[in-house]
Amino acid sequence: MKIQNNAVVAIHYTLTNNAGEVIDSSEGKDPLKYLHGAGNIIPGLENALVDCCVGDKKDVVVEPRDGYGERDENLVQKLPREAFGGIDTIEVGMEFQAQGQDGSVQYVSVEKVEDDGITINANHPLAGETLNFAVSVEEVREATESEIEHGHVH
Ligand SMILES: [Zn+2]
Repeated sequence: MKIQNNAVVAIHYTLTNNAGEVIDSSEGKDPLKYLHGAGNIIPGLENALVDCCVGDKKDVVVEPRDGYGERDENLVQKLPREAFGGIDTIEVGMEFQAQGQDGSVQYVSVEKVEDDGITINANHPLAGETLNFAVSVEEVREATESEIEHGHVH
């Protein structure tokens, strides 16, 4: 059967950025299963898989607007070093949990370390990145009623 809404799909994938670095891959793991049409995966990838069948292989380029969004400069903030009291060494790339304004947990990463402050970034790590997926379709089946009701694969 072809991939369409309410199909359960299993894919193997390798995700690389435009520099050719592998960001994520299902290689050596179970394939990724998702419910098509339920927004389980990023829209750019979901849309590209419509009408594919088991055994299909596809290279998909996803622009930021169809992936993890454009980078939002409002989510980049420079804080005084005192805000990191109790942490001895702060390096670029370190990740912290912070409390968002609505009380939710937010992940921020250190983007710049300077004498007069530390710049943190609360964007999704892949915001602003063009994503290159190499995908192979491993399985396509009809979703069960309860999967459709729940919006995810069981
Ligand atoms: Zn469920």
